[in-house]
Amino acid sequence: MSSNITATAVVAHAANDLRVETIDVPTPAANEAQISIAYGGICGSDLHYWSHGAAGESILKAPMILGHEIVGTVSVAAADGRGPAVGTPVAIHPATPGGTGARYPEDRPNLSPGCTYLGSAARFPHTEGAFATTVNLPVRMLRELPANLSLRDAALAEPAAVAWHAVSRAGNVAGKRVMVIGAGPIGALAVAVLKRAGAASIVAVDMFDKPLEIAAAAGASETLKATDAEAIAAVEADVVIEASGNYRGLASAVRGAVRGGRVVMVGLLPSGEQPALISLAITRELELVGSFRFNDEIDEVITALADGSLDVSSIVTHEYDVNDALGAFETAKNSAESGKVLLKF
Ligand SMILES: [Zn+2]
Repeated sequence: MSSNITATAVVAHAANDLRVETIDVPTPAANEAQISIAYGGICGSDLHYWSHGAAGESILKAPMILGHEIVGTVSVAAADGRGPAVGTPVAIHPATPGGTGARYPEDRPNLSPGCTYLGSAARFPHTEGAFATTVNLPVRMLRELPANLSLRDAALAEPAAVAWHAVSRAGNVAGKRVMVIGAGPIGALAVAVLKRAGAASIVAVDMFDKPLEIAAAAGASETLKATDAEAIAAVEADVVIEASGNYRGLASAVRGAVRGGRVVMVGLLPSGEQPALISLAITRELELVGSFRFNDEIDEVITALADGSLDVSSIVTHEYDVNDALGAFETAKNSAESGKVLLKF
């Protein structure tokens, strides 16, 4: 009964070597369901593996299937009888928490030192991603979608959970003045989450017009160009979400925060030492808070997408067939012209 099937997958071989290939899909393990993938969102880390053969300190040492922002439909239910039935539409939680012996707060499994993530070269052998027409996944990763939430709308669940976690790291934002630095997909999703959470005003900052338009449609009350240092400093935001992943963005975040305010850093800066406007952060007694991936926030996101309270309709700008993955990656890399780019499988 082990009639193996094949799938079309997006595989990063090395820097600037992205291929759409036919791969073998093995018979699923007893705790795995087989998923027919519908959509996959291209993330900054996918772009880094393609452009540089590395994402931060995670370096490609062997070809790896990319992709961790995926949704699909169960095509084979798990043999152990657990998890959703055939035909169930699901979003995917891409993390597998795990320990190494190093200490971490156990109620925050996103910080577990042995955590693996779909489509990540942080460890070797690499953790294969799920940009493939058919994928086997453990049922604990599957999140059943409510009947009124389409697969296409749910395709943003994973990055929205990253944004949701970042906003939760800011504390209670209701009635507060908030600024978001960097209006790429994570920044724009943070704007949408902040609006839902009742922020009094949301200022979005970016270098380009198109992301600012997307952020405005997602709920930003004001937009500023990243070069307008004076206007950024005048915001005096209670909370700043740094989503640019650039040290200049972090400097803007510090400059634009009110005395005693909080800066949540969700944009991942390059590894190694980075310049920081630290004296101002000290004398203003700013709280600089990191934010990394997410835990169960994806469940809250799915509920909020389904009940319409989280409006992310402005954020997907392009959709490409998987066979044109290279075109999709090129569009996604052009942050002046695109928001979230989806692959359709
Ligand atoms: Zn992502």
